[in-house]
Amino acid sequence: SYLSEIEKANPELNAYVCVTPEAALKTAQAVDKKIAAGEEIGSLEGVPMTLKDNMSTKGIETTCCSKILSGYKPIFDATVWETLKSQNAVLLGKTNMDEFAMGSSCENSCFGGAANPFNTNHVAGGSSGGVSSAVGGNIAAYGLGSDTGGSIRQPASFCGVVGLKPTYGAVSRYGLIAYASSLDQIGPITKSVEDASLVFDAIAGKDKRDSTSVGGGNTYATLDNDIKGMKIGIAREYLDGVRDDVKEAVLAAAEVYKSLGAEIVYFDLPILKFALPVYYIIACAEASSNLGRYDGIRYGYKTAHYTGTHDMICRTRSEGFGEEVKRRILLGTYVLSAGYYDAYYKKAQNLRGTIISAFNKAFEQCDVILAPTVPMTAFEKGHATSDPIETYLTDICTVPVNIAGLPGVSVPCGFNAKGMPIGMQLIGKSFGEAQILNAAYKYQ
Ligand code: GLN
Repeated sequence: SYLSEIEKANPELNAYVCVTPEAALKTAQAVDKKIAAGEEIGSLEGVPMTLKDNMSTKGIETTCCSKILSGYKPIFDATVWETLKSQNAVLLGKTNMDEFAMGSSCENSCFGGAANPFNTNHVAGGSSGGVSSAVGGNIAAYGLGSDTGGSIRQPASFCGVVGLKPTYGAVSRYGLIAYASSLDQIGPITKSVEDASLVFDAIAGKDKRDSTSVGGGNTYATLDNDIKGMKIGIAREYLDGVRDDVKEAVLAAAEVYKSLGAEIVYFDLPILKFALPVYYIIACAEASSNLGRYDGIRYGYKTAHYTGTHDMICRTRSEGFGEEVKRRILLGTYVLSAGYYDAYYKKAQNLRGTIISAFNKAFEQCDVILAPTVPMTAFEKGHATSDPIETYLTDICTVPVNIAGLPGVSVPCGFNAKGMPIGMQLIGKSFGEAQILNAAYKYQ
Protein backbone atom coordinates (compact mmCIF):
# COMPACT_ATOMS: atom_id res chain seq x y z
CA SER A 1 0.00 0.00 0.00
CA TYR A 2 2.93 2.36 0.61
CA LEU A 3 4.18 1.68 -2.93
CA SER A 4 0.82 2.57 -4.45
CA GLU A 5 0.60 5.69 -2.26
CA ILE A 6 4.06 6.71 -3.54
CA GLU A 7 2.80 6.39 -7.10
CA LYS A 8 -0.11 8.68 -6.29
CA ALA A 9 1.56 11.28 -4.07
CA ASN A 10 5.15 11.44 -5.26
CA PRO A 11 4.58 13.37 -8.51
CA GLU A 12 3.48 16.31 -6.35
CA LEU A 13 5.69 15.83 -3.28
CA ASN A 14 8.85 14.87 -5.21
CA ALA A 15 10.06 13.21 -2.02
CA TYR A 16 11.52 10.10 -3.68
CA VAL A 17 14.23 10.37 -6.30
CA CYS A 18 14.42 6.60 -6.71
CA VAL A 19 11.89 3.90 -5.79
CA THR A 20 12.91 0.28 -5.25
CA PRO A 21 9.66 -1.75 -5.44
CA GLU A 22 11.11 -5.21 -6.23
CA ALA A 23 13.43 -5.32 -3.24
CA ALA A 24 10.77 -3.78 -1.00
CA LEU A 25 8.18 -6.41 -1.95
CA LYS A 26 10.68 -9.23 -1.56
CA THR A 27 11.50 -8.23 2.02
CA ALA A 28 7.87 -7.54 2.89
CA GLN A 29 6.85 -10.99 1.62
CA ALA A 30 9.64 -12.66 3.59
CA VAL A 31 8.38 -10.96 6.76
CA ASP A 32 4.79 -11.97 5.91
CA LYS A 33 5.94 -15.59 5.72
CA LYS A 34 7.54 -15.34 9.15
CA ILE A 35 4.33 -13.94 10.58
CA ALA A 36 2.26 -16.66 8.91
CA ALA A 37 4.59 -19.27 10.41
CA GLY A 38 3.94 -17.81 13.85
CA GLU A 39 7.51 -16.55 14.25
CA GLU A 40 8.14 -13.53 16.42
CA ILE A 41 9.28 -10.42 14.54
CA GLY A 42 11.33 -7.44 15.65
CA SER A 43 9.88 -3.96 16.11
CA LEU A 44 11.29 -2.61 12.82
CA GLU A 45 10.83 -5.76 10.78
CA GLY A 46 8.66 -5.27 7.71
CA VAL A 47 8.28 -1.55 8.35
CA PRO A 48 8.47 0.47 5.10
CA MET A 49 11.09 3.22 5.32
CA THR A 50 13.40 5.42 3.29
CA LEU A 51 16.98 6.69 3.28
CA LYS A 52 18.22 10.13 2.32
CA ASP A 53 20.13 9.81 -0.94
CA ASN A 54 23.53 10.44 0.71
CA MET A 55 23.62 7.03 2.40
CA SER A 56 25.38 4.33 0.44
CA THR A 57 23.18 1.47 -0.70
CA LYS A 58 24.88 -1.39 -2.47
CA GLY A 59 23.77 -1.63 -6.10
CA ILE A 60 21.23 1.20 -5.72
CA GLU A 61 22.05 4.56 -7.26
CA THR A 62 23.25 7.03 -4.61
CA THR A 63 23.61 10.55 -5.95
CA CYS A 64 23.46 13.09 -3.10
CA CYS A 65 21.05 14.70 -5.59
CA SER A 66 24.05 15.97 -7.54
CA LYS A 67 24.66 15.62 -11.25
CA ILE A 68 28.29 14.78 -10.44
CA LEU A 69 27.23 11.46 -8.85
CA SER A 70 24.65 10.54 -11.50
CA GLY A 71 24.82 6.84 -12.24
CA TYR A 72 26.96 6.05 -9.18
CA LYS A 73 26.04 2.73 -7.58
CA PRO A 74 28.02 2.03 -4.39
CA ILE A 75 29.60 -1.38 -3.95
CA PHE A 76 28.89 -1.43 -0.21
CA ASP A 77 26.17 -0.51 2.27
CA ALA A 78 26.38 2.27 4.86
CA THR A 79 26.50 0.75 8.34
CA VAL A 80 23.07 2.18 9.22
CA TRP A 81 21.51 0.48 6.21
CA GLU A 82 23.41 -2.76 6.79
CA THR A 83 21.99 -2.77 10.34
CA LEU A 84 18.40 -2.03 9.35
CA LYS A 85 18.55 -4.41 6.40
CA SER A 86 19.62 -7.23 8.71
CA GLN A 87 16.44 -6.48 10.70
CA ASN A 88 14.29 -6.80 7.58
CA ALA A 89 13.53 -3.11 7.19
CA VAL A 90 11.66 -2.50 3.92
CA LEU A 91 13.48 0.13 1.87
CA LEU A 92 10.95 1.88 -0.38
CA GLY A 93 13.54 4.06 -2.11
CA LYS A 94 15.97 6.93 -1.72
CA THR A 95 14.80 10.42 -0.93
CA ASN A 96 15.43 13.93 -2.13
CA MET A 97 17.89 16.37 -0.55
CA ASP A 98 19.82 19.55 -1.17
CA GLU A 99 22.87 18.70 -3.25
CA PHE A 100 25.51 17.20 -0.92
CA ALA A 101 23.27 18.24 2.02
CA MET A 102 24.03 21.93 1.46
CA GLY A 103 20.87 23.94 1.92
CA SER A 104 17.75 24.54 3.94
CA SER A 105 14.94 24.09 1.44
CA CYS A 106 15.76 20.96 -0.59
CA GLU A 107 15.66 23.17 -3.69
CA ASN A 108 19.39 22.76 -4.35
CA SER A 109 18.63 19.25 -5.60
CA CYS A 110 19.37 18.31 -9.22
CA PHE A 111 15.93 16.65 -9.18
CA GLY A 112 14.11 19.83 -8.08
CA GLY A 113 12.90 20.34 -4.50
CA ALA A 114 10.53 18.26 -2.37
CA ALA A 115 7.19 19.83 -1.45
CA ASN A 116 5.74 20.35 1.99
CA PRO A 117 2.91 17.88 2.65
CA PHE A 118 0.94 20.58 4.54
CA ASN A 119 1.00 22.97 1.59
CA THR A 120 2.76 22.02 -1.60
CA ASN A 121 3.53 25.66 -2.46
CA HIS A 122 5.92 25.60 0.49
CA VAL A 123 9.25 23.81 0.76
CA ALA A 124 9.77 20.67 2.81
CA GLY A 125 12.94 22.16 4.31
CA GLY A 126 16.43 20.87 4.01
CA SER A 127 18.58 19.31 3.48
CA SER A 128 16.70 16.08 4.36
CA GLY A 129 13.53 17.49 2.75
CA GLY A 130 12.67 14.27 0.92
CA VAL A 131 12.60 12.16 4.08
CA SER A 132 10.44 14.68 5.96
CA SER A 133 8.10 15.15 3.02
CA ALA A 134 7.73 11.37 2.71
CA VAL A 135 7.13 10.79 6.43
CA GLY A 136 4.87 13.85 6.79
CA GLY A 137 3.01 12.86 3.60
CA ASN A 138 2.55 9.24 4.78
CA ILE A 139 4.58 7.65 2.00
CA ALA A 140 7.19 6.23 4.40
CA ALA A 141 6.68 5.11 8.00
CA TYR A 142 10.05 6.59 8.90
CA GLY A 143 13.35 7.55 7.32
CA LEU A 144 16.97 8.30 8.07
CA GLY A 145 18.33 11.77 7.44
CA SER A 146 21.67 13.39 8.13
CA ASP A 147 22.23 16.55 10.14
CA THR A 148 25.34 18.71 9.74
CA GLY A 149 23.76 21.98 10.78
CA GLY A 150 20.09 21.18 11.16
CA SER A 151 19.23 19.02 8.19
CA ILE A 152 17.21 16.51 10.21
CA ARG A 153 15.59 18.90 12.68
CA GLN A 154 14.73 21.79 10.33
CA PRO A 155 12.81 19.78 7.69
CA ALA A 156 11.17 17.75 10.49
CA SER A 157 9.96 21.03 11.99
CA PHE A 158 8.71 22.28 8.60
CA CYS A 159 6.81 19.05 7.88
CA GLY A 160 5.28 18.47 11.31
CA VAL A 161 7.27 15.34 12.16
CA VAL A 162 9.91 14.31 14.72
CA GLY A 163 13.62 14.54 13.87
CA LEU A 164 16.48 13.41 16.11
CA LYS A 165 20.07 14.53 15.58
CA PRO A 166 22.13 12.20 17.78
CA THR A 167 25.29 13.05 19.70
CA TYR A 168 28.33 13.10 17.41
CA GLY A 169 29.67 9.53 17.53
CA ALA A 170 26.44 7.80 18.59
CA VAL A 171 25.66 6.56 15.07
CA SER A 172 28.25 5.31 12.57
CA ARG A 173 28.98 7.61 9.63
CA TYR A 174 30.48 4.78 7.58
CA GLY A 175 28.91 4.96 4.13
CA LEU A 176 27.42 8.41 4.67
CA ILE A 177 28.73 10.61 1.87
CA ALA A 178 30.64 13.31 3.72
CA TYR A 179 29.70 16.98 3.76
CA ALA A 180 31.50 18.25 6.89
CA SER A 181 32.90 15.24 8.72
CA SER A 182 33.26 16.79 12.18
CA LEU A 183 29.59 17.85 12.18
CA ASP A 184 27.70 15.15 10.19
CA GLN A 185 25.44 12.71 12.05
CA ILE A 186 22.73 10.31 10.85
CA GLY A 187 19.42 10.16 12.71
CA PRO A 188 15.76 9.21 12.40
CA ILE A 189 12.84 11.26 11.06
CA THR A 190 9.59 9.77 12.32
CA LYS A 191 5.92 10.38 13.06
CA SER A 192 6.28 9.97 16.83
CA VAL A 193 8.88 10.25 19.57
CA GLU A 194 8.38 6.56 20.30
CA ASP A 195 9.36 5.68 16.72
CA ALA A 196 12.39 7.98 16.92
CA SER A 197 13.53 6.15 20.03
CA LEU A 198 13.05 2.70 18.45
CA VAL A 199 14.93 3.63 15.29
CA PHE A 200 17.71 5.45 17.14
CA ASP A 201 18.26 2.48 19.47
CA ALA A 202 18.49 0.24 16.39
CA ILE A 203 21.09 2.31 14.52
CA ALA A 204 23.22 3.57 17.42
CA GLY A 205 26.39 1.69 18.18
CA LYS A 206 30.14 1.64 17.92
CA ASP A 207 31.47 0.76 14.49
CA LYS A 208 35.10 -0.03 13.90
CA ARG A 209 34.80 1.33 10.34
CA ASP A 210 34.14 4.84 11.69
CA SER A 211 36.98 5.89 13.98
CA THR A 212 34.88 8.68 15.51
CA SER A 213 32.07 6.33 16.52
CA VAL A 214 31.49 5.75 20.21
CA GLY A 215 28.07 4.07 20.44
CA GLY A 216 24.90 4.84 22.35
CA GLY A 217 21.21 4.04 22.27
CA ASN A 218 19.14 2.44 24.98
CA THR A 219 16.53 5.19 25.11
CA TYR A 220 13.33 3.15 24.86
CA ALA A 221 13.20 1.82 28.41
CA THR A 222 13.10 5.29 29.99
CA LEU A 223 10.78 7.03 27.49
CA ASP A 224 7.84 7.14 29.85
CA ASN A 225 9.78 8.12 33.00
CA ASP A 226 8.29 10.81 35.17
CA ILE A 227 9.79 14.22 34.41
CA LYS A 228 8.79 15.81 37.71
CA GLY A 229 11.68 17.99 38.86
CA MET A 230 13.43 17.92 35.47
CA LYS A 231 15.12 21.27 34.90
CA ILE A 232 14.32 22.66 31.46
CA GLY A 233 16.49 25.60 30.48
CA ILE A 234 15.60 28.40 28.10
CA ALA A 235 18.49 30.48 26.76
CA ARG A 236 17.14 33.94 26.01
CA GLU A 237 19.37 34.26 22.91
CA TYR A 238 17.58 31.33 21.25
CA LEU A 239 14.43 33.44 21.18
CA ASP A 240 16.07 36.51 19.61
CA GLY A 241 14.77 37.28 16.12
CA VAL A 242 12.33 34.37 16.23
CA ARG A 243 8.90 35.02 14.64
CA ASP A 244 6.12 35.63 17.16
CA ASP A 245 4.06 32.57 16.23
CA VAL A 246 7.06 30.29 16.77
CA LYS A 247 8.07 31.99 20.02
CA GLU A 248 4.53 31.71 21.40
CA ALA A 249 4.34 28.00 20.57
CA VAL A 250 7.67 27.30 22.27
CA LEU A 251 6.74 29.27 25.37
CA ALA A 252 3.37 27.47 25.47
CA ALA A 253 5.32 24.19 25.45
CA ALA A 254 7.27 25.48 28.47
CA GLU A 255 3.94 25.91 30.24
CA VAL A 256 3.01 22.32 29.41
CA TYR A 257 6.30 21.21 30.98
CA LYS A 258 5.53 23.23 34.09
CA SER A 259 2.17 21.47 34.38
CA LEU A 260 4.02 18.15 34.13
CA GLY A 261 6.12 19.12 37.14
CA ALA A 262 9.26 20.29 35.37
CA GLU A 263 11.07 23.45 36.43
CA ILE A 264 11.79 26.16 33.84
CA VAL A 265 15.08 28.03 34.25
CA TYR A 266 16.06 31.01 32.14
CA PHE A 267 19.72 31.78 31.44
CA ASP A 268 21.95 33.60 28.96
CA LEU A 269 24.12 32.03 26.29
CA PRO A 270 25.66 35.10 24.60
CA ILE A 271 28.23 33.03 22.71
CA LEU A 272 25.37 31.81 20.47
CA LYS A 273 25.81 34.87 18.27
CA PHE A 274 29.06 33.36 16.97
CA ALA A 275 27.56 29.97 16.18
CA LEU A 276 26.47 30.78 12.63
CA PRO A 277 29.79 32.20 11.32
CA VAL A 278 31.69 29.40 13.11
CA TYR A 279 29.43 26.82 11.47
CA TYR A 280 29.71 28.21 7.95
CA ILE A 281 33.50 28.54 8.17
CA ILE A 282 34.05 25.01 9.50
CA ALA A 283 31.40 23.38 7.30
CA CYS A 284 32.65 25.03 4.10
CA ALA A 285 36.30 24.29 4.96
CA GLU A 286 35.58 20.60 5.49
CA ALA A 287 33.31 20.46 2.43
CA SER A 288 35.99 21.93 0.16
CA SER A 289 38.30 19.15 1.26
CA ASN A 290 35.73 16.32 1.17
CA LEU A 291 34.46 17.25 -2.27
CA GLY A 292 37.95 17.18 -3.76
CA ARG A 293 37.40 13.51 -4.58
CA TYR A 294 34.91 14.17 -7.38
CA ASP A 295 37.29 14.29 -10.27
CA GLY A 296 35.38 12.54 -13.04
CA ILE A 297 37.53 9.44 -12.67
CA ARG A 298 36.31 7.62 -9.60
CA TYR A 299 32.57 8.28 -9.40
CA GLY A 300 29.54 9.16 -11.50
CA TYR A 301 29.57 11.98 -14.03
CA LYS A 302 32.39 12.76 -16.45
CA THR A 303 32.41 15.55 -19.02
CA ALA A 304 32.01 14.48 -22.64
CA HIS A 305 34.71 16.62 -24.29
CA TYR A 306 38.15 17.52 -22.93
CA THR A 307 41.71 18.10 -24.02
CA GLY A 308 43.66 16.55 -21.12
CA THR A 309 43.41 15.40 -17.49
CA HIS A 310 43.38 18.87 -15.95
CA ASP A 311 40.82 20.10 -18.44
CA MET A 312 38.68 16.97 -17.84
CA ILE A 313 38.63 17.54 -14.07
CA CYS A 314 37.84 21.26 -14.44
CA ARG A 315 35.01 20.64 -16.89
CA THR A 316 33.58 17.72 -14.91
CA ARG A 317 33.47 19.77 -11.73
CA SER A 318 32.15 22.90 -13.47
CA GLU A 319 29.36 20.95 -15.14
CA GLY A 320 28.68 18.46 -12.33
CA PHE A 321 28.35 20.67 -9.24
CA GLY A 322 25.46 23.06 -8.67
CA GLU A 323 25.74 26.75 -7.72
CA GLU A 324 25.52 26.35 -3.94
CA VAL A 325 28.10 23.56 -3.81
CA LYS A 326 30.52 25.65 -5.87
CA ARG A 327 29.93 28.65 -3.60
CA ARG A 328 30.84 26.57 -0.56
CA ILE A 329 33.90 24.98 -2.14
CA LEU A 330 35.14 28.50 -2.93
CA LEU A 331 34.36 29.80 0.57
CA GLY A 332 36.03 26.77 2.13
CA THR A 333 39.11 27.00 -0.01
CA TYR A 334 39.37 30.68 0.84
CA VAL A 335 39.21 30.21 4.64
CA LEU A 336 41.79 27.42 4.47
CA SER A 337 44.24 29.25 2.22
CA ALA A 338 47.62 30.17 3.75
CA GLY A 339 47.02 33.91 4.13
CA TYR A 340 43.59 33.60 5.73
CA TYR A 341 43.80 30.40 7.76
CA ASP A 342 44.55 32.14 11.09
CA ALA A 343 41.96 34.85 10.54
CA TYR A 344 39.06 32.49 9.75
CA TYR A 345 39.52 28.76 10.22
CA LYS A 346 41.72 28.88 13.31
CA LYS A 347 39.53 31.52 14.93
CA ALA A 348 36.43 29.43 14.19
CA GLN A 349 38.03 26.36 15.76
CA ASN A 350 38.92 28.35 18.89
CA LEU A 351 35.38 29.66 19.13
CA ARG A 352 34.07 26.13 18.68
CA GLY A 353 35.87 25.25 21.93
CA THR A 354 34.33 28.25 23.67
CA ILE A 355 30.84 27.27 22.50
CA ILE A 356 31.34 23.71 23.82
CA SER A 357 32.39 25.09 27.24
CA ALA A 358 29.39 27.45 27.30
CA PHE A 359 27.01 24.52 26.75
CA ASN A 360 28.77 22.49 29.46
CA LYS A 361 28.28 25.40 31.82
CA ALA A 362 24.62 25.78 30.82
CA PHE A 363 24.05 22.13 31.66
CA GLU A 364 25.20 22.80 35.22
CA GLN A 365 21.92 24.73 35.59
CA CYS A 366 19.52 22.52 33.66
CA ASP A 367 18.98 18.97 32.36
CA VAL A 368 17.75 19.83 28.88
CA ILE A 369 17.47 23.05 26.86
CA LEU A 370 14.22 24.04 25.15
CA ALA A 371 14.48 26.23 22.03
CA PRO A 372 12.77 26.82 18.72
CA THR A 373 14.01 24.53 15.94
CA VAL A 374 13.78 27.22 13.27
CA PRO A 375 12.93 30.93 13.71
CA MET A 376 10.03 30.54 11.26
CA THR A 377 7.74 28.02 9.54
CA ALA A 378 8.32 26.53 6.07
CA PHE A 379 9.07 29.20 3.47
CA GLU A 380 7.38 29.42 0.11
CA LYS A 381 9.11 27.79 -2.84
CA GLY A 382 11.73 30.01 -4.46
CA HIS A 383 12.34 32.07 -1.34
CA ALA A 384 15.53 30.30 -0.17
CA THR A 385 17.26 30.31 -3.53
CA SER A 386 16.82 34.07 -3.98
CA ASP A 387 19.08 35.09 -1.08
CA PRO A 388 21.67 32.60 0.17
CA ILE A 389 22.87 34.74 3.11
CA GLU A 390 19.33 35.21 4.43
CA THR A 391 18.85 31.48 4.15
CA TYR A 392 22.08 30.79 6.09
CA LEU A 393 20.68 33.00 8.88
CA THR A 394 17.69 30.69 9.35
CA ASP A 395 20.06 27.98 10.64
CA ILE A 396 20.77 29.99 13.78
CA CYS A 397 18.86 27.70 16.18
CA THR A 398 20.09 24.40 14.77
CA VAL A 399 23.85 24.81 14.17
CA PRO A 400 24.99 25.26 17.82
CA VAL A 401 24.14 21.62 18.55
CA ASN A 402 26.35 20.38 15.72
CA ILE A 403 29.23 22.64 16.70
CA ALA A 404 29.10 21.23 20.24
CA GLY A 405 28.38 17.63 19.09
CA LEU A 406 25.25 17.46 21.28
CA PRO A 407 21.96 15.62 20.68
CA GLY A 408 18.85 17.58 19.68
CA VAL A 409 15.35 16.51 18.81
CA SER A 410 12.71 18.55 16.99
CA VAL A 411 9.13 17.86 18.04
CA PRO A 412 5.94 19.39 16.56
CA CYS A 413 4.47 21.97 18.95
CA GLY A 414 1.60 23.54 17.07
CA PHE A 415 0.61 25.36 13.88
CA ASN A 416 0.66 28.97 12.77
CA ALA A 417 -2.38 30.88 11.52
CA LYS A 418 -1.82 29.52 8.00
CA GLY A 419 -1.82 25.94 9.20
CA MET A 420 1.93 25.38 8.82
CA PRO A 421 3.58 23.24 11.50
CA ILE A 422 5.89 24.70 14.17
CA GLY A 423 8.69 22.70 15.77
CA MET A 424 10.46 23.00 19.09
CA GLN A 425 13.85 21.62 19.91
CA LEU A 426 15.06 19.80 23.01
CA ILE A 427 18.83 19.81 23.38
CA GLY A 428 20.63 17.37 25.66
CA LYS A 429 23.98 16.76 27.25
CA SER A 430 26.47 14.70 25.29
CA PHE A 431 24.96 11.17 24.91
CA GLY A 432 21.84 12.43 26.69
CA GLU A 433 19.43 11.10 24.03
CA ALA A 434 17.45 9.14 26.63
CA GLN A 435 16.72 12.32 28.55
CA ILE A 436 15.63 14.47 25.59
CA LEU A 437 13.49 11.68 24.15
CA ASN A 438 11.91 11.15 27.57
CA ALA A 439 11.08 14.87 27.77
CA ALA A 440 9.81 14.87 24.16
CA TYR A 441 7.69 11.76 24.73
CA LYS A 442 6.02 13.26 27.79
CA TYR A 443 5.14 16.37 25.79
CA GLN A 444 3.90 14.60 22.67
N1 GLN B 1 21.25 24.37 6.20
C1 GLN B 1 22.54 23.95 6.65
C2 GLN B 1 23.54 24.04 5.53
O1 GLN B 1 23.15 24.42 4.49
C3 GLN B 1 22.48 22.57 7.23
C4 GLN B 1 22.73 21.49 6.30
C5 GLN B 1 22.85 20.15 6.92
O2 GLN B 1 22.62 19.95 8.13
N2 GLN B 1 23.29 19.19 6.11
O3 GLN B 1 24.68 23.78 5.67
